[in-house]
Amino acid sequence: MKPVCTTCPYCGVGCGLLASGDGSIKGDPDHPSNFGRLCSKGAALGETLGLEGRLLSPHVGGAPTDWDSALDLVAGKFSAAVREHGPDSVAFYVSGQLLSEDYYVANKLMKGFIGAANIDTNSRLCMASTVAGHKRAFGSDTVSGTYEDLELADVIVLVGSNLAWCHPVLFQRIQAAKSERPGLKIITIDPRRTATTHGSDLHLAVRPDGDTALFNSLLGEIVRRGRVDQAYVEAHVHGFEQSLSAAQSTLPADTGLSAEELQLFHDLWIGSEKVVTVFSQGVNQSVGGTDKVNAILNCHLATGRIGRPGMGPFSVTGQPNAMGGREVGGLANMLACHLDIEDADHRKTVQSAWQSPTICTKPGLKAVDLFRACASGQIKALWVMGTNPAVSMPDADAVSQAIKAVDFSVISEVVEQTDTSTVTDVQLPATAWGEKTGTVTNSERRISLQRAFLSAPGETRPDWKIICDVAQRMGWAEAFSYQSPVEIFREYAALSGQAAGLGGDFDISGLATISEAGYAEFTPVQWPIPSGSPGVDRFFGAGGFSHRDKRARMVPVIATYDGRRRRNIFQLNTGRIRDQWHTMTRSGKSPRLSQHQSEPFGEIHPKDADELGLKPGDLLEIQSAYGRAVVRARITDGIARSTVFVPMHWSGANSATGRINAVIAPTIDPISGQPDLKGGLVQLRRF
Ligand code: SF4
Repeated sequence: MKPVCTTCPYCGVGCGLLASGDGSIKGDPDHPSNFGRLCSKGAALGETLGLEGRLLSPHVGGAPTDWDSALDLVAGKFSAAVREHGPDSVAFYVSGQLLSEDYYVANKLMKGFIGAANIDTNSRLCMASTVAGHKRAFGSDTVSGTYEDLELADVIVLVGSNLAWCHPVLFQRIQAAKSERPGLKIITIDPRRTATTHGSDLHLAVRPDGDTALFNSLLGEIVRRGRVDQAYVEAHVHGFEQSLSAAQSTLPADTGLSAEELQLFHDLWIGSEKVVTVFSQGVNQSVGGTDKVNAILNCHLATGRIGRPGMGPFSVTGQPNAMGGREVGGLANMLACHLDIEDADHRKTVQSAWQSPTICTKPGLKAVDLFRACASGQIKALWVMGTNPAVSMPDADAVSQAIKAVDFSVISEVVEQTDTSTVTDVQLPATAWGEKTGTVTNSERRISLQRAFLSAPGETRPDWKIICDVAQRMGWAEAFSYQSPVEIFREYAALSGQAAGLGGDFDISGLATISEAGYAEFTPVQWPIPSGSPGVDRFFGAGGFSHRDKRARMVPVIATYDGRRRRNIFQLNTGRIRDQWHTMTRSGKSPRLSQHQSEPFGEIHPKDADELGLKPGDLLEIQSAYGRAVVRARITDGIARSTVFVPMHWSGANSATGRINAVIAPTIDPISGQPDLKGGLVQLRRF
């Protein structure tokens, strides 16, 4: 049988795959994001398709039941909570694993029919600081460039990104470009030595959270060397003087780099016009994440190095559909199609398109606050969809308790037993990757179809269908009467055209009349896709920002740094490893992937290990005011003093002690609400 073209369910590179029902998976040579390449996780997908451990029927109170009973219960409980306590008493916590069509109907139900904005997503943990930084600078959450820019650049700067492990195919594309053009320079800015730093020309081991200081120093040097693009700034940018003044108050010493290292960085970045600055979770997952993003954007705006081939800032996102979720409004502070909740015209446009009885009027609870509201009793009914917050959220034990504290909780899941599903009242069985069809958008604005190539097992249903089934039972049958995902896609494609009419960037109205056959044959395409006119490859090369005056904003940002070393206080840095994904519910099924790193570990500097009396292989206890974990010690001089790195993947379901997010404080970036998953303070001891 002919293999089916589909899209990888893991990272935001969004690779195209050729998948067969017998589990054979290959890279799709025709997909323009990966051209047939795959990484270890994508290549092992065939090993993860078995039905062991799957949730195959609805469960209430731990016992199997039929769909009608479960759906009636869920709709009844949510309706009762809204009726008795108001719309803000219910919440959805959704996932970048959802397809855009799933995300869209969940968002429509919460914001237009229930009338609150308490729908947030695990993407809050991934790229919310980038969204906030983009919106401050550009007026819209726009990734200006494409993957091709990385191949066209003369200098690529990777900031807070272990690209070789976390976005491997993109790293492969960079390496291939470097083989063809050895003059291409790769600079990695990361406090840790990683697989990515090994593949770079220059590793700058910036101090933890030193990114703002580093890019402020760069802005000052751009000005000192007379390399500002005056014409671009005068025509398209506000805030230059104020941003320069803030940048100049930053001390170069705050970067943690030597004068020679700083000069080398300045020489390379300023000396080559074709520079792409790629940034990821090391930038986003920080109390100063949004400011870090704007420090990077400031340098590109000051030099006009944006929106032209081979140059620009470039955010790489974590999940297959982190960008699609942003596009359909899956964050608590956004409406569909990049429209703003706070803007009355935007609200009116969305409500009118939805013909909805109401529309939320204020932003909802972001992830950390959402679970706090569960704990405090404000949230009476909670629906978690396709994610495992009892492992992935900071202060994960408290999140688990918060879910238990809610009067009524439900989860839509593919896995029978996760740390989260075991504390919810109702479990609804969802179809998994390979069993459902819908769109995702990757890190370069490319929309691709995930296609079903397996039949839906047991009683599983697609997420969009489950959401619509509940919405219909809540009294909104007509608005949620979709029969297939293409009907949902057409609706939000049409809405995007109206959003573009209000000055928005996200426009796929050229697809608003796509037929069922056209959707089935969908080939990967980058937005914008306006109706009746050609789109653009890149944004902002000639200005045209989304602020009302069409100008960008450089944002003054100041680096703050507490440089004191305190005895036995370590900065906990968490992240991904090469062969696992999130809480391992899929990747953990592959024996091949589990061989790479078989147990949770903590990397620590040799001098710190000496002080703690630690030898390689000893058990290391990590303790904070929030929780405790025990992992295997790995001693390496590739990590900074007074820091410890632990992978994020292990959960209570697969490790008694390695659930590291239980240790992390629920501290957030005050602008984006993104948790500081790389900055928790902990104490260590030999176990
Ligand atoms: Fe999947 Fe990302 Fe690997 Fe591509 S790079 S195969 S999208 S995990």
